[in-house]
Amino acid sequence: MEIRLQKFLSMAGVCSRRAGEKLIESGRVTVNGSRVTAMGVTVDPENDVVEVDGRRVKVQQNNEYILLYKPVGYVTTLKDEFGRPTVKELVADIKTRVYPVGRLDLDTSGLLLLTNDGELANQLTHPSFGVEKEYLAKVHDTPKKEALEILAKGVRLDDGMTAPAKVQLVKSGRLTSVVSLIIKEGRNRQVRRMLEAVGHPVVSLKRVRFGPLTLSGLQEGRWRRLEPREIEQLR
Ligand code: URA
Repeated sequence: MEIRLQKFLSMAGVCSRRAGEKLIESGRVTVNGSRVTAMGVTVDPENDVVEVDGRRVKVQQNNEYILLYKPVGYVTTLKDEFGRPTVKELVADIKTRVYPVGRLDLDTSGLLLLTNDGELANQLTHPSFGVEKEYLAKVHDTPKKEALEILAKGVRLDDGMTAPAKVQLVKSGRLTSVVSLIIKEGRNRQVRRMLEAVGHPVVSLKRVRFGPLTLSGLQEGRWRRLEPREIEQLR
């Protein structure tokens, strides 16, 4: 089925339809190698080659991109050998098989992406891609300035020094406090180990951001599909 070029651009996550019209008018869009500046051109999303500034843009046909607010107590696998609840059960309505992008511990809650787009999943989990992951950790006591500085500069763990992180004390109480930690790495139980290493074991941990994505508007245990623009932002 053919669709208008500006609709194609918006479905491909390039921009809104209105902005797409401007993009077309300004001569930055080609279809099968020919520049298109007039409105009203339609394209076949499966067969026509659309380029913006010489870069091919595509509408993903069958890919699923799911943002899940994982509660504590669910394993980040599709099947658990011990029969514990898995994140798959939380997205059971989705008929396509989707895989978690990275992992959250059983006792961590928060933002987990699931997709069947292997290429994007590989990119996002590769350390060189450098996606920021933001965690809110409730920890024992209140970390002093020195501890926060160590966390920010790099902590020595069993598997080596951690890369620089962004650290902020969000709330301090008598027995516990809350620390925001933004890291680009994704080692096993990394945030817990970092905080333990500076003498402030984690009481509870939640991932509140993955790159540009947040949990805003989503209830714990629920999921939603990413908007085309959000998918594009991840690339
Ligand atoms: N760091 C941890 O320690 N646990 C997680 O689940 C994620 C990051």
